[in-house]
Amino acid sequence: MNLHEYQGKEILNSFGVRIQRGLVASTPEEAVNAAKKLTEETGTGWHVIKAQVHAGGRGKGGGVKLAKNLDEVKTIAGKIIGMNLVTPQTSAEGKKVHQVLIAEDVYYPGDNEPEEYYMSVLLNRATGRNMIMYSTEGGMDIETVAEETPHLIFHEEIDPAVGLQGFQARRIAFNLGLSGTAFKEMTKFVFALYKAYTNSDSSLFEINPVLKTSDDKIMAVDAKVSLDDNALFRHKDYAAMRDKREENPVEVEAGEKGLNYVDLDGNVGCMVNGAGLAMATMDLIKQAGGEPANFLDVGGTADAERVEAAFNLILKDPAVKAILVNIFGGIVRCDRVAQGIVDAYKNMGTIDVPIIVRLQGTNADIAKELIDNSGLDVQSAIEFQEAADKVQAVLNK
Ligand code: GDP
Ligand code: MN
Repeated sequence: MNLHEYQGKEILNSFGVRIQRGLVASTPEEAVNAAKKLTEETGTGWHVIKAQVHAGGRGKGGGVKLAKNLDEVKTIAGKIIGMNLVTPQTSAEGKKVHQVLIAEDVYYPGDNEPEEYYMSVLLNRATGRNMIMYSTEGGMDIETVAEETPHLIFHEEIDPAVGLQGFQARRIAFNLGLSGTAFKEMTKFVFALYKAYTNSDSSLFEINPVLKTSDDKIMAVDAKVSLDDNALFRHKDYAAMRDKREENPVEVEAGEKGLNYVDLDGNVGCMVNGAGLAMATMDLIKQAGGEPANFLDVGGTADAERVEAAFNLILKDPAVKAILVNIFGGIVRCDRVAQGIVDAYKNMGTIDVPIIVRLQGTNADIAKELIDNSGLDVQSAIEFQEAADKVQAVLNK
């Protein structure tokens, strides 16, 4: 589950990471009030207005703007709230902005220029260890840095047995070219950031930029956080941060129905029980000359209600030209599933997309008979290849 910048910063703050202070607002009036409150707390009269959407590159898309007085706060917030923000990380239509973060301006002019660094904590799947990735080249696309100047990106791997060590935090501060107060601040920042990452069961904390202010404070100006869905049950407060408006609506609906659904770009919808079988089925569809329109694991209990819900989800995708149901009756009996399919089909009235059903396992033969005798426009198969051939025939029609 991904979080908004302001939510990520709340978590960072709770673990003692210094952040650029800010308040979230949904209307220009709220934005002005937020700005006034921030001025009382921080003393700064300048604010940055930042679109809160689940996508990076907001600055480039016009979703991050500096306001030098309350009038500007109001007009800029009014422009950003409700806009469709297009960034290098969104689709061409962009993402609708529902909220903005009003943040204190921390790029104040001083004796030294402020510096921007990049830092993220994530799991290195190749080594199975958490890793801190960082660079002197912050504030810009880290992908570009990785491509053009890879030697400016550093890594620190953390041994799970002993955790982040002092020498590692010091090496980071050293490689970022820091000394004195800023050096000490950075080691504190790294420890607090790593703690926030591990204690929140996250899979990513990306801070770009990490800012060194002209008075040598180190702070998080941006925060991109991905929480591990499988650990959300032990973080009810984080789970409540979910913003469903940012997610694929069909996937949200599937989640509510207990179905494991991922939207894809192809033309053959699939309904399968078990993730492994779902993967194999997607391969099968490709072999038959199609492209999977989705990944859908209905789980162990494929009763009429679930099957119907699954059909409904798949049919919402206008690109779907055929549906392949591939169920292995191990714990669940195939005839039960077949009955579920027949019932769901009848309940839904007409489905104008051809359906190919492959049922294998306990009572597969009874299931095939049930479907063949149902009088419905559903083709049955028992063998994998048979199902593939039927999908191919339908697509070539
Ligand atoms: P992103 O574009 O989605 O990554 O959004 P960021 O939160 O990283 O903001 C984009 C850029 O806005 C940063 O790299 C900064 O250069 C700039 N920015 C952020 N906060 C401030 C601020 O307080 N003052 C000024 N002047 N610029 C800021
Ligand atoms: Mn950023």
